[in-house]
Amino acid sequence: EPTQNRKQLELHEEVAQFYHHILLNTKVGEHALSYLYERGLTLETIKDFKLGFAPMERTILNQVMTEKGYEEEVLNDSGLFYETETGERLNRFYQRVMFPIENHQGKIIGFSGRLLTDEKYDLTDQPKYLNSPETNFFNKRFILYHFHDARPTIRKTNDVILFEGFMDVISAAQSGVQNGVASMGTSLTTDQIKMLERVTENISICYDGDNAGVEATMRAIDLISKQSQLSCQVISIPNKLDPDDYRKIHGEDQLRHLLENNRDTVFQFKKEYFKRNRNLEQESDKIEYIDDMLASLVEVPSIIETDIYLTQLADDFLVSKDALQNELSEKRQEIK
Ligand code: ATP
Ligand code: MN
Ligand code: MN
Ligand code: MN
Repeated sequence: EPTQNRKQLELHEEVAQFYHHILLNTKVGEHALSYLYERGLTLETIKDFKLGFAPMERTILNQVMTEKGYEEEVLNDSGLFYETETGERLNRFYQRVMFPIENHQGKIIGFSGRLLTDEKYDLTDQPKYLNSPETNFFNKRFILYHFHDARPTIRKTNDVILFEGFMDVISAAQSGVQNGVASMGTSLTTDQIKMLERVTENISICYDGDNAGVEATMRAIDLISKQSQLSCQVISIPNKLDPDDYRKIHGEDQLRHLLENNRDTVFQFKKEYFKRNRNLEQESDKIEYIDDMLASLVEVPSIIETDIYLTQLADDFLVSKDALQNELSEKRQEIK
């Protein structure tokens, strides 16, 4: 209900400020702060994204928020605590760098926390990232990290870049690319695509360059082409890096240059994708490859684009364009 939710927004804002204060101004936050500097973030970026630190100590958040007058029910429903058998509220997030997550109105509704390893503690059983749980005000399938802040730039440039991780969004922003968003460590949803379609006609997928990222790119392309009118491109990060690794190694200017200029069409991406694990010198692999490429051309709506791609395929593999065209027509029939 509305009043309850307003209280949750107030609480989340307060908790974000609390973690932010610990990170910037306290002794327990020092290690986390130097970790973020070490990763190459500036103080300005840390402030812009309201990054914070949730310390190892597990009762402090309950103490502070209770003192501030938040009611039991609000605290219990927030998703920020674990309740023990004795009814004690322990922080859900501890020993983590905190990323506040805003809804489309810019109100903080949840957190993601990244584990900060420390030789003093055994944290080997803890996941690298931990999110707020699903609640009636935190629905991951409707949330895109950084969407509220990125929206004016997305509208102005008519373009959004979809990243895999929060650190990639932040890295891009610090490098001067403000139109990046990320889903919540889960695969892209139809609801998120609809949110984006309301503000832009173009999307570029820039997932990690590793195998998991490439597979996820393929799935995202499929969903976007089936569920939306968005025109889709792919930004590939070389050497299995993610965008944040790339900035760390090559610098902000190089990352910005890559994000702005190194864009492939979906066709170009698939040309590389379907080459993996195949030896195109071999006749049978080559035939399978051409078959996969033709199947993906069924999705291309533009006749001119299709013609260009068929010419490329015919040239690359020394087959007649007529044969490819016939095969494509047959595939179109099968699908109908
Ligand atoms: P970092 O650079 O801090 O190591 P990353 O963003 O590169 O992190 P990836 O392993 O590439 O991390 O994962 C991409 C995204 O997937 C993360 O930003 C996070 O949202 C999500 N994620 C990763 N590991 C987990 C996990 N164990 N549980 C939930 N979500 C996760
Ligand atoms: Mn990854
Ligand atoms: Mn990554
Ligand atoms: Mn990373």
